[in-house]
Amino acid sequence: MIRISSIDVFPLRLPLKQNFRISQGTVGAVSAGAPHVYVRVAGDNGAEGWGEARPSPRWSYETPESVCSAVANYLRPALLGQRADDLAVVHRIMNRELAGSLHPGQPIAKAAVDTALHDLIARSYGLPVAALWQSGSAHPVRLSYLISTDSPEEAARKARQAVAAGYAGVDVKLGLSPARDLDIVAAVKHEAPNVFFRADANQAYSLTQAIRLAKGLERLGVDVLEQPLPASQLHAHAELRRKTSIPIALDESVWSPSGVLEALRIEACDTIVIKLTKMGGLRGAKLCGEIARESGLGLLGGGLTESKLGLLASAHLFRYLELTEPADLNGPMFLKDDAVEGEWPIRGGEVVLPEGPGLGCRISEDKLRKYAADAV
Ligand SMILES: [Mg+2]
Repeated sequence: MIRISSIDVFPLRLPLKQNFRISQGTVGAVSAGAPHVYVRVAGDNGAEGWGEARPSPRWSYETPESVCSAVANYLRPALLGQRADDLAVVHRIMNRELAGSLHPGQPIAKAAVDTALHDLIARSYGLPVAALWQSGSAHPVRLSYLISTDSPEEAARKARQAVAAGYAGVDVKLGLSPARDLDIVAAVKHEAPNVFFRADANQAYSLTQAIRLAKGLERLGVDVLEQPLPASQLHAHAELRRKTSIPIALDESVWSPSGVLEALRIEACDTIVIKLTKMGGLRGAKLCGEIARESGLGLLGGGLTESKLGLLASAHLFRYLELTEPADLNGPMFLKDDAVEGEWPIRGGEVVLPEGPGLGCRISEDKLRKYAADAV
C-alpha cells in the first residue's frame, strides 16, 4: 500500500517559438510565454510521479490560476494520507471536493494529479505506465502536423514542411478567418494530398454555416470535421450529420464517459476526440476511449499543447488504445524548451516513447526554477 505524502504545484512560463491561435483567440503568445502547471505527487515509499496541466481560457473555463488553486487548496488537503494506488478512491475524493455540473469539474487540474499518480504507481513497481493496464502494445503513435493560420500561402508552406518531416496527417485549424477556410484547406490538400486530413473549427460556426462548410470540405476530400458548432449543441451536431456526409468528430462537447454515451444516444458524431486533460486524466480518458471504441465510434487523439511531460502521458494512452489515425499532440512544436530532460521524443512524425518506468520522464529541477512563474 502506498500513501500520498506530498503534492507540490509548479506554475511555469515556458518560452514559445511561435504564437498559437484557434478560432476563439490566442492560446499562446511569444511575448508572454506559455502557462504550464507541473504537479509532483510523492508517496510514503519514497517514489514520486509527475503530471501536467496546460489550461487555456480560450479553450475551456480553466486557467493557470484555477489549476494551481484547485490542486493546492482543494485536492491536496483531501488527498494527503490517502492511498496513492487506489485511483477509484482518489477520483471519488477529487470529484467530491470539486463537484461536476454539466462538466466533470476542473478536469484539467484533476488530470495533472491523476497523471502524477499513474507515474508514481508505475515507478513504485518499476514498470511502464501501460503495464498498469496489462498492455504490452507496441502500436506506433503517429502525429498530425498542426497548421493554424489565416493565410493560404503559409498553410501551403506548413503542409510542405509536414510532408517533408514524414507526418502522416495534418490538423488544420478553421474559423480563424472564415472567408478563407476553403482556400486554406485547398492549399494544404494541394501540398499534402495523401495524408490524413483533420479540420478543427473549435466551435466557430452556426449550424447553417457548418452545413455549407461541410459540403465544401467533402468536395476537397477532408477526412473529418472536428467540433464545428458550440460545445453545448449536441443536437445541432446530430442534425449536421444528417444533412452532410463528412464524418463529424466531437472534442469540446465530450468530457466524460457519460458524455460519450450521450453523444452516441443521439447520434451526434462519428468520432470522439480523446484528451486526457479534459477527461480528468488517464483513467477517465482510457474509459472514454474504450467505450467509444467498443461502440463503433472512431477515435482521435489530441492534447492542449502540453509540453513533453503531458505529450508522453497522452502517447502512452494512445499506444494502449491503438489509435489508427495520427494524434494531435503539438505542444513541443510551439515550445523552445520545457522542464523534461532526455531525448527529443518525436522522430519522423512519430512519438518515441521512453523505456523507463512510469511515464519515462525525468524532470529537471534547474528548469523548474528557471521557468518558475509567479505564485498565483
Ligand atoms: Mg479539437
